[in-house]
Amino acid sequence: MKIARFEQGDAVRYGIAEGDAIVELTDPGSAGPGGERRVFSIDEVRLLAPTAPMKVVAVGLNYLDHAKEMGIAPPEEPILFIKPSTSVIGPGEDIIMPKASARVDYEGELGIIMGKRAKDVPVADARSHIFGYTCLNDVTARDLQAKDVQFTRAKSFDTFCPIGPWVETELDPYTLPIETRLNGKTVQSSNTAQMKWGAYELVAFISSVMTLLPGDVIATGTPPGIGPMAPGDRVEVIIEGIGTLANQTRLST
Ligand code: MG
Repeated sequence: MKIARFEQGDAVRYGIAEGDAIVELTDPGSAGPGGERRVFSIDEVRLLAPTAPMKVVAVGLNYLDHAKEMGIAPPEEPILFIKPSTSVIGPGEDIIMPKASARVDYEGELGIIMGKRAKDVPVADARSHIFGYTCLNDVTARDLQAKDVQFTRAKSFDTFCPIGPWVETELDPYTLPIETRLNGKTVQSSNTAQMKWGAYELVAFISSVMTLLPGDVIATGTPPGIGPMAPGDRVEVIIEGIGTLANQTRLST
């Protein structure tokens, strides 16, 4: 099931995406007189980031083929960093390239959306704490990442975490083809089978460090082929079984 968060009229609503339609999810008490659910065309609503997380926990160097490309041995434990909630944007929104950086990169990634509060969750119980999966772009100011050593500034500008277009709740996260396209050209192409730590292992590891809250997002790492974007570029993250997250870039004014 694909659960979308969207704006229609002045209200933020949730619905099930089915083809070109979104069937509104309503509380039993707020449905129409006959209990019917409203159906919108995807064209008549604005899709929003499918969750408003308290935090985004990201993982570095998790794809074995990416570590090989970088000439770096895969880390012994997952490398974690945080992207702030204020970096999150939805499908179709602009990625704003800050004046402080001369090189802003895309990083297509599988995003995990938490469903239940998770603390010290064993791998075997991780699945029941996950709500679903989405496409994510871990936008990075590569020059600032090198300059600062610490990742915080490079990963945290407003608009640096597009997610969407919705959350797929029924998916095996271990064998998903993942692709990034820049202006229609494929620049990253891999499979989540290349991840050193899969979705359940990451939930277990991260929840041994910090409490994950419902709606929190995990950015699971990027495959090979990272590269820079120019103003006016269109960037798409495509994951089989989920869909396409598309955004465009523009310079900060
Ligand atoms: Mg990343």
